[in-house]
Amino acid sequence: MSIEERMRQVESKIAAACERSGRRRDEVHVIAVTKYVSLERTKEAFGSGLIHLGENRFQDAQEKWFALSGDEQADEAGKPVWHFIGSLQSNKVKDVIGRFTYIHSLDRLSLAEAIHKRAAQLGLVVPCFIQVNVSGEESKHGMNPEDVAPFLEQISGLNSIKPIGLMTMAPYEAEPEDTRVVFRALRELRDQIRSGSPYGGQIEHLSMGMSNDFEVAIEEGATWIRLGTILVGKEEDEQ
Ligand SMILES: *Cc1c(COP(=O)(O)O)cnc(C)c1O
Repeated sequence: MSIEERMRQVESKIAAACERSGRRRDEVHVIAVTKYVSLERTKEAFGSGLIHLGENRFQDAQEKWFALSGDEQADEAGKPVWHFIGSLQSNKVKDVIGRFTYIHSLDRLSLAEAIHKRAAQLGLVVPCFIQVNVSGEESKHGMNPEDVAPFLEQISGLNSIKPIGLMTMAPYEAEPEDTRVVFRALRELRDQIRSGSPYGGQIEHLSMGMSNDFEVAIEEGATWIRLGTILVGKEEDEQ
């Protein structure tokens, strides 16, 4: 299936989920997760108007990054906006900051300090999502919900980081409806932090929802959804 055909199908699902939950379509931003696909396919996605691209490892993303955003791509208006969505090791921060605009996986103080240091060197302020492990699954990265407010206070002096929202991954469920409790809990945490925590005022966004569960995530308030398989496909599909 072509990317444009996929985009049309996804778009009608997004619109329907917004409609069902009384939300405006422009409250929901789409990140095309290109980690499963080739450079060619990534170029096609960007060329089709998918401006926001997500990758979870710099090593795997670098060929795409240099092809689409490297120095020879002089036209500033013609570059993607890159989102780093994978777990980030502090020693990889130097590769990522300055190349990826948004970080969705801030989950510990040492990482915040590393991001801040690198961003300050480059004269940048990096918008970050704090990754929360809502479901409590061992295998999931992210901080415990009750640690988010104290963490915001701890990083409040790191002025090259701008915390803008919360991110979570729901466990894979055969019934997407079963993810609703996770997304609802993240929204409630956001609301609570925003109104009740002295450092929570900027915590506005919710990065949640993937191919399997984005419709539920939208109904529960997602403002950024991260779509790989359903939107750009998986490499196996192309062969
Ligand atoms: C891979 C990945 C996605 C996209 O997954 P799909 O199920 O293919 O949509 C979204 N978010 C994160 C953090 C990922 O690692």
